[in-house]
Amino acid sequence: MSEAVLDSTTYYRATANREFKGAAAAQLPGRVDACVIGAGFTGLSAALELAAAGRSVAVFDTGPVGWGASGRNGGQVCTGFSPGMAGFEKQLGAADARLCFDVSEEAKRLMTSRIGKYGIDCDLTWGFLHAAARPSHIAHLQEHADELERYGVSGLAMLSREELAAKVGSKAYHGALRESDAGHIHTLNYCLGLAHAVQQEGGMIFENTAVTAVQDGTPVRLSLAGGREIACDQVIVACNAYLGTLIPGLNHRVMPVASYVITTEGLGDDRARNLIRDREAVTDSNFVVDYMRLTADNRLLFGGRCSYSGIHPKDLAANMRPRMLRIFPQLEDAAVEFAWGGHIGITYNRLPDVGRQGRSIYYAHGYSGQGLILAGMLGKLLAEAVLGDQTRFDVFSRIRHLPFPGGVLRRPALTLGMLYYRLRDILS
Ligand SMILES: Cc1cc2nc3c(=O)[nH]c(=O)nc-3n(C[C@H](O)[C@H](O)[C@H](O)COP(=O)(O)OP(=O)(O)OC[C@H]3O[C@@H](n4cnc5c(N)ncnc54)[C@H](O)[C@@H]3O)c2cc1C
Repeated sequence: MSEAVLDSTTYYRATANREFKGAAAAQLPGRVDACVIGAGFTGLSAALELAAAGRSVAVFDTGPVGWGASGRNGGQVCTGFSPGMAGFEKQLGAADARLCFDVSEEAKRLMTSRIGKYGIDCDLTWGFLHAAARPSHIAHLQEHADELERYGVSGLAMLSREELAAKVGSKAYHGALRESDAGHIHTLNYCLGLAHAVQQEGGMIFENTAVTAVQDGTPVRLSLAGGREIACDQVIVACNAYLGTLIPGLNHRVMPVASYVITTEGLGDDRARNLIRDREAVTDSNFVVDYMRLTADNRLLFGGRCSYSGIHPKDLAANMRPRMLRIFPQLEDAAVEFAWGGHIGITYNRLPDVGRQGRSIYYAHGYSGQGLILAGMLGKLLAEAVLGDQTRFDVFSRIRHLPFPGGVLRRPALTLGMLYYRLRDILS
């Protein structure tokens, strides 16, 4: 199954607010201040900051805006970083770990301020439940709550099994941690809104225009599909799991892992609220998570499952449906109308990888499954660095990363590692 097929069937494309029209090929300038490769949250956010600061910016994407994970994800707006804060504390010390966490909290404010400023209609809904998939996971959720509290997050509550059952119509869970300051969003509409904002600030976006080579120097030269070229002072690489081998040396830092989402037919308000009463986001506590939420038009959107092997299930809907029915058996008669997949970019230690290669090539990627708002924030940090303030960029770029093994060992090594965590989910 090709990436184009994985993207073409999303609920998001079917319910996108408005058409986006990128720049025409004939408008391609010979030189700009900055080029951005990738029109997802990292790239669009960086481009928006740079354009708003008066820099000339050209964004390129192999596909349409939001063609990567940013237009296809589960829409869960999460707090912090997927592996928690221990890795930051160990590597950076307490003060800089706090700076990183503050950056992740600022990501929420950045999103809401952009939604307000540019009038982006994207169904933002607050309220988030981390549901315990096993009784033993309650203690892990309490530890997670303690860590969030230590970092100053308010609006947290531990819910008993009965309290959770009043909110979520499932017998699968044993209690939950509720966060009031996390939630969910129509990710593609947010992404398209950012693309419009980039244009509004004077930036140019070239869709269906792959960058085929980057040659560092003064200026940096980018080769584009179709044999064209553009020169610039700085490049932002925002390709995440879709980077491939474009920038030698960067490709071993992030491993693409496939993940899948389905969406039911419209269920009507009553039936939808019997599943998730207060329309909150729900994520379970397994290492390979299942997550779910209601869409604005009362469908259940259900995501989960990872493929580390690079092989996608033949019939995604049939493959994902039993997972959904394990949580909500009452949906036996509900049709699955959309099924799709995309690639998450994970790093070895699950911490984001931010840095600069050579003099002028800046990158941020590897949000390890939790990048919807982080990508936008780290894109902003890349723009800050390009504009001359490297303070926060430097802290993130101090995080050390092990590369994934290359060649024939690449996928088997990861698959084995993940099998361990899958077994842990089953046995704990
Ligand atoms: C199925 C799924 C569910 C997810 N669910 C969640 C969730 O609920 N919450 C959450 O926080 N995170 C989630 N994530 C992760 C989140 O979506 C990503 O971390 C985030 O969108 C990454 O944004 P990005 O801009 O860095 O990368 P992407 O959005 O992937 O964008 C990269 C872009 O680079 C382009 N590109 C690559 N190479 C080239 C080239 N040579 N030339 C031009 N363009 C190029 C690609 O076409 C692509 O559009 C999920 C991811 C997936 C796949």
